[in-house]
Amino acid sequence: MIVVTRRRFVAGAVAALGAALAAPRPGAPQSASAGPPAPQLLEDLVAANHILVDQGVLDGYGHVSARHDRDPGRFLMSRSIAPELVTAADVLEYGLDSEPVAAAGRTSYLERFIHGEIYRARPDVRAIVHSHSPSVIPFGVTGAPLRPLYHMSAFLSGGVPVWDIHAAAGDSDMLVRTPALGRSLAQALGTRPVVLMRGHGAVAVGTSLPQVVFRSVYTEVNARLQAQAIALGGGHVTYLSPEEAARAEASIAGTLGRPWELWKRKSLGR
Ligand SMILES: [Zn+2]
Repeated sequence: MIVVTRRRFVAGAVAALGAALAAPRPGAPQSASAGPPAPQLLEDLVAANHILVDQGVLDGYGHVSARHDRDPGRFLMSRSIAPELVTAADVLEYGLDSEPVAAAGRTSYLERFIHGEIYRARPDVRAIVHSHSPSVIPFGVTGAPLRPLYHMSAFLSGGVPVWDIHAAAGDSDMLVRTPALGRSLAQALGTRPVVLMRGHGAVAVGTSLPQVVFRSVYTEVNARLQAQAIALGGGHVTYLSPEEAARAEASIAGTLGRPWELWKRKSLGR
């Protein structure tokens, strides 16, 4: 009799927990799904997660999102798991408040506010990568500006801002875990394609998943090469001029599909 009672209690508790997890959080607007995203977008989002691991930009941490093709007020991003493990079944729909539309008990990345607040501030942005891209970290903590030293990273010309969470929140755990911190980061990004986060990592934005993956990969490569060039040249490095960078970026813009196709095929074949 006691066992039955306990079982009933446990069953009831599980049902209540499920209902609580399925219900919208207090204060979060209750909203219907924008509908299923285009299969191609979903496939590319999963591929982007895997490619960025293959290319050394993401590891067990970091995340990629894409604006929903049916509703600019929504974006798509995996539940909280390592990027290498992401499948289409893990992708959740989010509002621009960075709250999931129907999480059904699945947990979200703590730093999802990076994505919602940038999509809110930048209508041109359709894809975002947040990484702890290792080679960029020194440029976020030394004051040495990240600058394009070859044509592949020409998009960095014009300046890479550094966002310092301490200026926004004082002593913290370094994570963008609130909408206010997401807004502060989005402000620091401004109209640029990349922003560094002091003592943490970087955010890259783009008008497509192939573009934001390209930018994330070549931000990491440029940072690595720039540190080598500074060491080798005793501090003297010749960077791309603004005119060279503008021309190089325009030329490379037409070839983004080439590395994307290669990276995606490799990621699907493993
Ligand atoms: Zn992070």
